[in-house]
Amino acid sequence: MTTDSLSSLKESFQDLSEERLIEVAELPTFCSAEGIGREMLDLIADLYPICRSITGNGVRQTLSLIERLIPLQRHEIPSGTAVLDWTVPKEWNIRDAYVKNARGERVIDFQKSCLHVVGYSIPVRGRFQLSELKEHLFTIPEHPDWIPFRYSYYDENWGFCLAHHDFEKLEDGEYEVVIDSSLENGHLTYGEYYLRGSVEDELLISVHVDHPAMCNDNLSGVAVATLLAACLTRVKNRHLSYRFVFIPTTIGSITWLSRNAANVGKIKGGFSMTCIGDSGGFTWKETRRGDTEIDRAVKCALRESGEEYKLWEFTPFGFDERQFCSPGFNLPFGCLFRTYSHHYAENHTSADTPDLIRPEKLAGALVLCAKIVLILEGNGKYLNTNPKGEPQLGKRGIYRKIGGPIPQAHLIHLFWILNYSDGEHSLLDIAEKSKFPFEELWKAAGVLRETGLLIPLEGT
Ligand SMILES: [Zn+2]
Repeated sequence: MTTDSLSSLKESFQDLSEERLIEVAELPTFCSAEGIGREMLDLIADLYPICRSITGNGVRQTLSLIERLIPLQRHEIPSGTAVLDWTVPKEWNIRDAYVKNARGERVIDFQKSCLHVVGYSIPVRGRFQLSELKEHLFTIPEHPDWIPFRYSYYDENWGFCLAHHDFEKLEDGEYEVVIDSSLENGHLTYGEYYLRGSVEDELLISVHVDHPAMCNDNLSGVAVATLLAACLTRVKNRHLSYRFVFIPTTIGSITWLSRNAANVGKIKGGFSMTCIGDSGGFTWKETRRGDTEIDRAVKCALRESGEEYKLWEFTPFGFDERQFCSPGFNLPFGCLFRTYSHHYAENHTSADTPDLIRPEKLAGALVLCAKIVLILEGNGKYLNTNPKGEPQLGKRGIYRKIGGPIPQAHLIHLFWILNYSDGEHSLLDIAEKSKFPFEELWKAAGVLRETGLLIPLEGT
């Protein structure tokens, strides 16, 4: 199973026959399949050139590529729809754009990079003197080879982005400017993948799909979420439900929340995920409440990941956690990333290419997500049915169940669980107190349950 590559996974995702299904405890191993990081990078490379924005065909093309791996339910919300305090904007599409010099040469050419055009630029056809044109040009002087990413979603305008080196080469004179775009009533598009478990409580993972031609922000999150969703389809006996939303930043989560406000109580935990494929360690930005089960599950998975990590308290800026943690919702929703977007120079520039992404870091993120799932699935409270004095393990066949003499560590796991399964402490509490791996404690709890020494408490 662990040597499956994505190519065989792709076929097998659709094959849900009994012998192909796995237990949730096997998910982290399943997600460690050799080459899976490289396959995620290939998905990123396929998605990379698409001219995405908060609406338009770029989002639809992106969803189509994701649908090669998981079936999405698509939503098309008409422009003008009121969503919370916002309104779904007009839909933006673009076919071509350029600036030509007096010799008829394209000195700025959308066909070479979609980052050359400011997102949501209105249609333009005209001739401008360099001095007039300069008011619509954007560069990064401190990184003169990079093209910046700019947009003007809610203020009708137009512009071009270019490398500062190329900007400096522009000669005085007249330029022909064409932006063959449309900004019209249409739709805001988003995709959703829902996997029903035995309860309606759900883990919600949100990734944004609106950044054109950049990889770490946002495609790394898209790739990891897609693969996690695909791997989860193979897990049998899922307790929780899982929802993945592929949405444009800000207006997408606002739209989603507006349409799902009545059901947000089912969200047991969630996080947005982006900037997850660079060489940095992990960062967990806590939920607004800070100590919810998802915070604790992620921290437990991080402790056990063997990777470096940082914890950040919630702040009301960043990614879609701003919306999910707005005070009217205050959901248990955090954000998972490696290097924060504002902390690496390549962010929001043409330098955020596939070269910035390390396949092993994508793979590490996928396994971390699988461990978070495992912890949420396995967490619960139990009751020691023989709480007065230590129960005699030998006479209950525990030594046989574990296969001979119990290694000291396993014995200690059993003692921790027996002692703290008093109806007050959950398995996650015990993992936090004992510092033993959650997975080992969960296995030990399984052994104790078989002997009747441990019973699960209702509703946990
Ligand atoms: Zn961004």
